[in-house]
Amino acid sequence: MASATCPSCGGTLNITVQTSKMVTCPYCGMISYLNAGNLAMIGQKSFLVDYGSLFKIGKKGKIKNIDFQVIGRLRIDYQDGFFDEWYLNTPQGQKWLSEDEGKFVFFYESKEINDPLIFDLLNFPVGKVFKHKDLYLFVSEKSTAKINGGEGELPFQVEPNQKADFVDTLFEQKLYSFEFLPKSIELHIGNYIDINEIKILD
Ligand SMILES: [Zn+2]
Repeated sequence: MASATCPSCGGTLNITVQTSKMVTCPYCGMISYLNAGNLAMIGQKSFLVDYGSLFKIGKKGKIKNIDFQVIGRLRIDYQDGFFDEWYLNTPQGQKWLSEDEGKFVFFYESKEINDPLIFDLLNFPVGKVFKHKDLYLFVSEKSTAKINGGEGELPFQVEPNQKADFVDTLFEQKLYSFEFLPKSIELHIGNYIDINEIKILD
């Protein structure tokens, strides 16, 4: 683990993952972008409203039998309110866990999709099955979301108010969540996790 000094207050910033692109100060909230080991303060502070989540930056635990440490959080606003995407460091690399009103999805695989046929999902009705190659994707939810903010370490530079369209689909009891960003389509594949399958260590 590396550390750096907050350019705003002088506090110590822990940097767990070499590829992180952003870090917020736990003391003063200042957001800094990371670039090849250099910190650039962007002059904005990040404070996310808390709601009593089990998770917190720095907490360690286990999801099923996978060890993790929480290193970042991304907050997304959508029509029904907001949800958090927790950024976890695990022995298998960095993973995302989404939390929405006590419902958790652990995303074990994330990849960029380059097939333009996937854009058809944006106009595809909820409740129908979208066939793509060997996948039969049941479209369960569509929404437009907006980045509200982030904290801790994140693998990209958060641009508040950046919008993205989401299409959630189900196939063989897994969630295939497509995120349509301005320059790319990201597919996150995950499992719903029961709260009893999450252990937090102190
Ligand atoms: Zn600071």
